[in-house]
Amino acid sequence: MEVRRNILLNPGPATTTDTVKLAQVAPDICPREKEFAGLMAGLREDLVRVVHGDPAKYTAVLFCGSGTLCMDVCLNSLLPQGKRALIVHNGAYSARAADICRYYGLPHVELKLPYDCPADLGAVERALRENPDVALVYATHNETGAGLLNPIRELGALAHACGAVFVTDTTSTYAMRPIDVEADNIDFCMASAQKGLMAMTGLSFVIGRRDIIEASKDYPRRSYYANLFRQYDCFERTGEMEFTPPVQTVYAAIQAMKEYWAEGEQAKWARHTRVMEAIRAGLDGLGFRETVRREWQAGLVAAVRNPDDPNWDFQRVHDYCYERGFTIYPGKVGTAGTFRLCALGAIDAPDIQAFFEVFRQALDGCGVAVPVRYDA
Ligand SMILES: *Cc1c(COP(=O)(O)O)cnc(C)c1O
Repeated sequence: MEVRRNILLNPGPATTTDTVKLAQVAPDICPREKEFAGLMAGLREDLVRVVHGDPAKYTAVLFCGSGTLCMDVCLNSLLPQGKRALIVHNGAYSARAADICRYYGLPHVELKLPYDCPADLGAVERALRENPDVALVYATHNETGAGLLNPIRELGALAHACGAVFVTDTTSTYAMRPIDVEADNIDFCMASAQKGLMAMTGLSFVIGRRDIIEASKDYPRRSYYANLFRQYDCFERTGEMEFTPPVQTVYAAIQAMKEYWAEGEQAKWARHTRVMEAIRAGLDGLGFRETVRREWQAGLVAAVRNPDDPNWDFQRVHDYCYERGFTIYPGKVGTAGTFRLCALGAIDAPDIQAFFEVFRQALDGCGVAVPVRYDA
């Protein structure tokens, strides 16, 4: 089977290998069969190994849904009665976490910080001192809207110094930037299969401390379908998700995991870094500017300022590239006036060089002068 290869430069879903795509074409199976539970058990262990967790201490709990579900699960499930969450808000995804708190009516402190620099540890420390009832600290590892990296190891240490649980959204770093849950002071992290793992959408997972999940049994149950203890407990008792799992997506994730181990943590990170260097070289060659200083970036997302050339038309440039197999992505709320190029997926530097040839043609076609112009 021949599947056309598209280069996705959006922040997930990512370009996948043909072997991962084709892993979904498998004999039909009822997911309540022992065989299928066995597959999920192996996948859960591997998901913990990716972030170097001790399987006696950490577990992975699978959910059927996109990545936001894991944010929802962690926030609604891990807050004890009468305690508050501290949301370190410095980007579009931590804004979403604060939104989730508001939806559930969860008591929380929203620490709003600038979107273009790493979270200020002093501000977090002060917020924790002023709010001794905080039992959960939440921060995003890579704020995917701006490509900003947060100092999670230090944030985790601050949370732990106050006896709070540290939850970090690693959806856009997991299986790309090396993470070590113990060294990085992470109690809970999360991702979904279509990003760093280079598999398919519809399977997401929370990785975290077993003892805390077990303690959360007695916390308020705020969601029926998306409670962490409930899903964990079902996996531990039966090896299954409580409700129907995304069967074919699980097959793809298992194949992607094999390919992850074959490539290796360091080699994979080196490849993503190579891709980002090619993106930066291409942007520099055309005179584009980014919104976040490169040394503060996670090295996976370039949030590029739209040029001030009156002929710049994101949609036209997008469509030209899209018709030729390359997908670029608009900016996110809070980083208005930007577009994004991401280094996720089964791609390498030559794909980026090929992209920039097409991108250059698109600029010429629109009449955008190169190097591109910025008024300020
Ligand atoms: C992609 C992403 C998510 C999840 O988004 P979905 O659209 O629900 O898959 C969550 N957090 C971060 C940081 C992300 O990059």
